[in-house]
Amino acid sequence: MTRLRKLGAVATATASAYGSVLFLHSSLVSAGDNGGGSPLEALRKKVHDPGAVVPAREAQQSALKAAGKSNPLDVLVIGGGATGSGTALDAVTRGLRVGLVEREDFASGTSSRSTKLLHGGVRYLEKAVFNLDYGQFKLVLHALEERKQVIENAPHLCHALPCMTPCFSWFEVVYYWMGLKMYDLVAGRQLLHLSRYYSTKESVELFPTLARVVNDRSLRGTVVYYDGQMNDARLNVGLACTAALAGAAVLNHAEVVSLLKDDDGKRIIGARIRDNLTGKEFDTYAKVIVNAGGPFCDSIRKMANKNAQEMISPSSGVHIILPDYYSPEGMGLIVPKTKDGRVVFMLPWLGRTVAGTTDSSTSITYLPEPHEDEIQFILDAISDYLNVKVRRVDVLSAWSGIRPLALDPTAKNTESISRDHVVWEDYPGLVTITGGKWTTYRRRCC
Ligand SMILES: Cc1cc2nc3c(=O)[nH]c(=O)nc-3n(C[C@H](O)[C@H](O)[C@H](O)COP(=O)(O)OP(=O)(O)OC[C@H]3O[C@@H](n4cnc5c(N)ncnc54)[C@H](O)[C@@H]3O)c2cc1C
Repeated sequence: MTRLRKLGAVATATASAYGSVLFLHSSLVSAGDNGGGSPLEALRKKVHDPGAVVPAREAQQSALKAAGKSNPLDVLVIGGGATGSGTALDAVTRGLRVGLVEREDFASGTSSRSTKLLHGGVRYLEKAVFNLDYGQFKLVLHALEERKQVIENAPHLCHALPCMTPCFSWFEVVYYWMGLKMYDLVAGRQLLHLSRYYSTKESVELFPTLARVVNDRSLRGTVVYYDGQMNDARLNVGLACTAALAGAAVLNHAEVVSLLKDDDGKRIIGARIRDNLTGKEFDTYAKVIVNAGGPFCDSIRKMANKNAQEMISPSSGVHIILPDYYSPEGMGLIVPKTKDGRVVFMLPWLGRTVAGTTDSSTSITYLPEPHEDEIQFILDAISDYLNVKVRRVDVLSAWSGIRPLALDPTAKNTESISRDHVVWEDYPGLVTITGGKWTTYRRRCC
């Protein structure tokens, strides 16, 4: 138990001294980016002022309405998820005039429905090695850099989390140990903590609900490695609020219902926005519109060109919340290969256990719902590995999120679609940013 407490202490070292939810992108914004140190310094002071207050809704809406044809915003961002809020923050801290509109609330989409891991993607590294795929390798490398940076930027919302990989043969011990050592190696200076092997006795001490025998195979030990864990919803709201404090006009419950074109119809120059609280509509103009609508980005692209080819291949992922006793505080469990070859996680989350996820093709809906077979799939996948009875009645809540995977026309299933992001201007004045992981939001926003 002492070892568990030590690991837990590392994992929960969340720099509780940070009371504020506000932060600036530390490495992507440098003094040079906006032509000198002092404006950035002034911005930092403003954002870090404990008495700073985000301007009221009326002020945000007035700023958007005031952006007319003759004095357009530099950038209008559609969508207040990780991508849109990150883009707005990056743009405003570079000295641009920025607007951000979100149909529902910040993080109401995919960005609050994730597994909450800041990760490089161990399984993508596996694919990179076996397929000799340099593209996948670069994805992992960049994500590992971002994992560390995001934890440093928002230590009050993110921390390192140990994850245990159970091994049921000596081959698995060697295989996972080598793979996770490679993961450490690729992280290089961005490493959170070194992975290591634990014997069966040590492992069950660390994870008391872990089964010692699975399908007649005895546990040979576990390999514990580290990734990051974040509070995705709060991180997202923090980005939007920081963008607002830095001067962006940021409005939730504000839906883009159509795009405005110039007189020749050749360029997008603004958007018609409906305030979903009052039902009233108004126009905002901008030199560039960034479409960060996540799974809905095709519907926004079709406002510019109704014949636009769809680029999103939606895939749904379900998570369930289970009671705290399913997993110990400060230690996650990763099942690297379920019966159908998928990865399933069980992680401590706000005093409970979050388990997931699934990956199945879906249609795009406003409020995706978890299906019973998806919930059952997760329960089945974890039950083999636990010595407690996994019961349907223990599911305290469940939700579903839609991955905005950017379509590769040659891919046969969603598993093989690249998790990288895509930046695409298919109509002058309208740039779409989609795909990618939460972990790497800063890369696609700058
Ligand atoms: C099940 C699951 C698990 C995941 N786990 C992880 C993980 O552990 N780690 C990780 O790094 N990544 C993870 N991801 C990926 C990550 O969550 C997404 O890449 C990220 O959240 C996408 O953010 P986004 O801003 O592009 O989309 P969204 O968060 O969906 O934001 C798009 C926003 O646009 C708004 N919008 C749409 N249309 C309009 C309009 N017309 N007007 C105004 N607003 C509009 C929507 O309301 C929405 O809020 C996971 C994804 C899923 C589905």
